[in-house]
Amino acid sequence: MYEITIVGAGLAGTETAFQLAKFAKAYDLNIRMKLYEMRPKVKTPAHHTENFAELVCSNSLGSEFLTTARGVLIQEMKLFDSLIINSALKSKVPAGQALAVDRDKFAEIISETISVNPYIEIIREEFINIPADFLEANSEYNKNKFLIIASGPLTSPNLSQEVQKLTQGKDFLNFFDAASPILTAESINMDIAFKASRYGKGETDDYINCPFYSADEYYRFQEALLSAERAELQDFEKENMRYFEGCMPVEAIAERGKDTLRFGPLKPVGLTDPRRPNEKPYAVVQLRQDNVLGSLYNIVGFQTNLKWGEQKRVFSMIPSLENLDIVRYGVMHQNIFLNSPTLLSENLSLKTHPNIYFAGQITGVEGYTESAGTGIVVARSIVSRILSEIKRSQETPLSRLTMLGALVNYVTSADPKRFQPINSNWALINPNPDKLEKRLRKDKRLKNEFLAERALALIREDAFTKTAAMIDA
Ligand SMILES: Cc1cc2nc3c(=O)[nH]c(=O)nc-3n(C[C@H](O)[C@H](O)[C@H](O)COP(=O)(O)OP(=O)(O)OC[C@H]3O[C@@H](n4cnc5c(N)ncnc54)[C@H](O)[C@@H]3O)c2cc1C
Repeated sequence: MYEITIVGAGLAGTETAFQLAKFAKAYDLNIRMKLYEMRPKVKTPAHHTENFAELVCSNSLGSEFLTTARGVLIQEMKLFDSLIINSALKSKVPAGQALAVDRDKFAEIISETISVNPYIEIIREEFINIPADFLEANSEYNKNKFLIIASGPLTSPNLSQEVQKLTQGKDFLNFFDAASPILTAESINMDIAFKASRYGKGETDDYINCPFYSADEYYRFQEALLSAERAELQDFEKENMRYFEGCMPVEAIAERGKDTLRFGPLKPVGLTDPRRPNEKPYAVVQLRQDNVLGSLYNIVGFQTNLKWGEQKRVFSMIPSLENLDIVRYGVMHQNIFLNSPTLLSENLSLKTHPNIYFAGQITGVEGYTESAGTGIVVARSIVSRILSEIKRSQETPLSRLTMLGALVNYVTSADPKRFQPINSNWALINPNPDKLEKRLRKDKRLKNEFLAERALALIREDAFTKTAAMIDA
């Protein structure tokens, strides 16, 4: 029997458990899993519920279309029959080209699917000590035991210390991630706001837009944002202050120049107000639907570290939000991640202890989808190792020309001195741009189509996606 312990029922932990159970069934493997989740007994600073796979900030998993790098990742994961992507599709809310979800429904589907899975035993406890069994690498006994640490960017301090012991004092790296507020639809003044999605993509009324028509009004808001009081950071946090560019607090974006917001999250392009079709707004704040009922919306790109009272005061200055009713305030937290290029092999196991794996954001990938994707890589690696023992074959990593393969290759082989969290992006699957045909080099759209198709073809050829397809049938 193979005993697999998974720590953390977040995006990565649930995907890993689901994939392992699916392969166990398909290959008739005697696998038993224990999935540890510390919530609700022990809380994290950003999670609010006891549900598995809770989304702590935006409710969007990114675009599902192959025109974006994230879309390639999503389509690759679909071929693996991903729990996270399938659950997102079942709990989808309208959001233009983005795969956005009703966060409660999404987490409930995942919690229910995992809870009834016969291969998985759920343990609602904080996992603190790594049992000695996992540390004695290469013993016969250990061959049948695996540990997967998928405890996320907010791993409990007790477990962080334990992992630091395991990594021989090599420090965790860290950065700051912030979440945006969620407000009630009722509190939006629809006499001022209008429904539209940028350039008419998706359904026309996917987003609610709050337009600033006067430059003065916009600059007053920008200045209020800059002078608003921020939540206190601990001293050690101040010393290590480093943001992830893709999730920078809105007040930090505003600090970079008085118009940076207008060229960033508040860009007014591609949005026509039906009441004033001939006027171009000076800036526009977008609100994205947050639940299926349409009773909640989040403010797109407004992740913030302002004090709660200040969030209410300053964001009420946005036209149409004068009666703003925030049901969940934005928060900012320090995230930890491993220096994976030093510590992990390409299958995301520890170089020093090959039966201990890491999955999710703790490996240095950034984002819900990327985190869940690493769960597929880990499950595939463990099953591949079990099967190779039976068939005496070799474990084969995913091709680096696929988004999933390229992501894990990047986090395990980047320069350890400058290692930073990474999202899916086109450069990852285009390692030799000079070698592409000339016609592709000249035309970005053609090039991306080629890269996307090549990645998907390679994933379709993978023995494990064939198994996933077989089970579906
Ligand atoms: C404030 C903030 C805002 C973010 N905003 C976004 C965003 O807008 N978009 C985006 O794509 N990504 C965002 N992220 C990143 C996001 O957290 C990750 O992308 C994703 O949730 C990581 O998935 P994961 O499975 O690695 O971790 P998580 O989803 O956090 O799951 C880890 C799980 O492990 C549990 N756990 C921790 N320690 C223990 C322990 N010792 N024992 C048992 N259980 C434990 C936790 O309770 C949690 O359920 C944000 C992160 C933070 C912190």
